[in-house]
Amino acid sequence: MSFTIENIAPIVNAKWSGQTDSMPIDHISIDSRSMQNGPTTLFFALSGANNDAHSYIEELIKKGVRNFVVTHIPKKAQDKANFLQVENTLDALQQFAAYYRGLFDFPVIGITGSNGKTIVKEWLNFLLSPDYHIIRSPKSYNSQVGVPLSVISINEKHNLGIFEAGISTINEMAKLENIIKPTLGILTNIGSAHDEGFSSLVEKIKEKLKLFSHVKVLIYNKNPSVDPFINSNIQTFSWSFTDKSADVFITEKTIAENTFLQLQTGKTDFEIEIPFSDDASVENTIQCLMVLLHLEYDLKTIRERIALLYPVEMRLKVKNGIHNSTLIDDSYSSDFQSLKIALDFLESQKHHKKKTLILSDIFQSGLSNDELYSRVSQLVVSNKINRIIGVGETISEFKNQFSHCITFKNTDDFITAFDSLSFGNETILIKGARAFEFEKIVALLEEKTHETVLEINLNAISHNLNFYKSKLKPTTKLMVMVKAFGYGNGGFEIAKLLSHHKVDYLGVAFADEGIALKTAGIELPIMVLNPETTSFAAIIQHHLEPEIYSLKGLKAFLKIAEQKQLHHYPIHIKIDTGMHRLGFEAETIADLTATLKENKFVHVKSILSHMATSDDTEHVDFANAQINLFEKLSSQLMQELHIKPILHLLNTSGISNYPQAQYDMVRLGIGLYGVSNDAEETKHLENVGTLKSVISQTRTIQAGESVGYGRRFCAVKETKIATIPIGYADGISRHWGNGLGYVMIKNKKAMIVGSICMDMLMVDITEIDCNEGNEVIIFGKEPSVSLIAEKLETIPYEILTSISQRVKRVFYRE
Ligand SMILES: *Cc1c(COP(=O)(O)O)cnc(C)c1O
Repeated sequence: MSFTIENIAPIVNAKWSGQTDSMPIDHISIDSRSMQNGPTTLFFALSGANNDAHSYIEELIKKGVRNFVVTHIPKKAQDKANFLQVENTLDALQQFAAYYRGLFDFPVIGITGSNGKTIVKEWLNFLLSPDYHIIRSPKSYNSQVGVPLSVISINEKHNLGIFEAGISTINEMAKLENIIKPTLGILTNIGSAHDEGFSSLVEKIKEKLKLFSHVKVLIYNKNPSVDPFINSNIQTFSWSFTDKSADVFITEKTIAENTFLQLQTGKTDFEIEIPFSDDASVENTIQCLMVLLHLEYDLKTIRERIALLYPVEMRLKVKNGIHNSTLIDDSYSSDFQSLKIALDFLESQKHHKKKTLILSDIFQSGLSNDELYSRVSQLVVSNKINRIIGVGETISEFKNQFSHCITFKNTDDFITAFDSLSFGNETILIKGARAFEFEKIVALLEEKTHETVLEINLNAISHNLNFYKSKLKPTTKLMVMVKAFGYGNGGFEIAKLLSHHKVDYLGVAFADEGIALKTAGIELPIMVLNPETTSFAAIIQHHLEPEIYSLKGLKAFLKIAEQKQLHHYPIHIKIDTGMHRLGFEAETIADLTATLKENKFVHVKSILSHMATSDDTEHVDFANAQINLFEKLSSQLMQELHIKPILHLLNTSGISNYPQAQYDMVRLGIGLYGVSNDAEETKHLENVGTLKSVISQTRTIQAGESVGYGRRFCAVKETKIATIPIGYADGISRHWGNGLGYVMIKNKKAMIVGSICMDMLMVDITEIDCNEGNEVIIFGKEPSVSLIAEKLETIPYEILTSISQRVKRVFYRE
């Protein structure tokens, strides 16, 4: 891309103001936190419901960014940079992308549908890459923002595009169509599930089909619910398992893990073996097969390439590594776009000062190797990577482009040298093309534990955070409670993500939790709910902020504050308005003000109270009485002490049920982790934690035989049993056994039979086709933590925080 501000202004209908309109632009960014932003970046200041990038412009100017697309120029930034002023910055980004796409004239495959978009895109890329220079959407970049960013990465060398488009409501697809301008369309499938964004299934179908308004050919699974809405001007190339009038009629048979497809195309009939047996993968394979047929590949090539299809891993996973290192595992792809994304992710997740990149040769960038590795080197420099380990013939050749770089010809050479590379106390991004089998490197670097893991979806946490933010007034601050190891989900990783999202405060229960976070490098202010007098010195040493809830505690803190000659040290005053747990009661307020008056050692940063019934609408009167008392006591304190502290009262349920009592800040807890006390609200949240294990062993028992301690389960007929390596020592309540609870295997329920043991439990798999080594879901989307809590007559909080520390946490981003 080579543009100047002068060229771009008319494309996006902008008014230019600034220093020089001949500034060259070769990079587009929307992420203020990316370290890839620089003088030749054009930054589009997007504003969403929760975040307005205009507020980062000053900061970006300090970092050297010189060019912005804005709706208004922030006062302090006036005259300090080039500004393109537009009505709507997202529209401008889309207009620019549409214009840019128009500069290229080569075939472009556009993919939409409810499921399978990303997999079909990745597989097509794999199948077609021997013959084309392909540009494709990185990861699942298919949104109103992701699509323009994907398209803007096209360069002169590309001769085939593969882009996916995802929408959530009406009037979105036409915009994406205009940006992608597909010539060949693929409709993966249309889920029948009700989507919130559409009034009906028909509306959803019609909207999705808009991606194909101008395609020459549309590939799809022939289907009476879609057919009537396909524009009759479009040529279709359809397939079906049931409808003989489809262009390709397919019959399927499965033998063990493999599937054989019999295809009748009208011209020829042939059979092909595909390396999957689950319905979704078979369908996705067929979509790809249809593209190969459409492009008139010969049967031999089709068979050879399809046989090599592999499960796609699109997620960036964060794992614990050896010697206190942290791994970011992106070991299944290495294209330039996804390298940029992975480096941004590394920055947002880095746990250590030192950053290492293990990188294989990069394929199909569309650039010459000289140009490619010089760009990679720029990326490595701007992201401040401390060492780079290159694996592959080509990267070895270009080693001189990098400083602090060692290279190996292939993965085996790397493995031989592994011990001499002394990994430890660093964050390691592992990024390699499939052919390099970097999973071998991950296996060496990963800390070993047992097979049970709690997977934490970081995207879901961001989603839930934004959901609750959207309920707040723009001025309301947000404290997030990360006590009890982030409600069992992992303290540091979540705190790090929250720092990235710029929340205002973190809350922990005890000083130790706060110290761990501060020591690990979390800079957000942290309030300690339950500081013991003995921990005050450590609290001060680590810049934690104590909640003070009694005169005794206050006096003890003041004594230390005076000894250390602190100046306005922040403290938080908790008042008891009815919870009767911790806090100053109404009668003690006078003593409190007398003690605090004129005191220079501390500063009342905030006043808070906690509600006892925010989740229970039966107690509205009680809740309102708490609100009124909070109002009264806090006003009294503020008046007498002449202070203007932050006032906060609401927890998660409070945010939903008592919006009038937001005051200056709220304290979000369980909602962030995807659990709400309200069923309606739960629908808007995304599941965060999935507790997974695998089947250790299976066996068949006969009627009359029993399972487990005390023979609490006795088979009444021949029964197939699987043993799972997770037990009550991992935090699974024993009450969940004996026919009450279940786990999910292959999307089917398997009842827990007999008593749960310390480290194992057994389930009934008679009706499930599964084997040793298959994945087992203990909780997640289904069964949900809320459901388990309800059945066990407890609350989700207890289920979440009971999962023992020996269960490894794995964090990932979609
Ligand atoms: C735990 C806690 C919260 C958060 O409660 P949720 O119900 O999880 O949102 C808020 N305030 C205080 C004082 C807490 O202890």
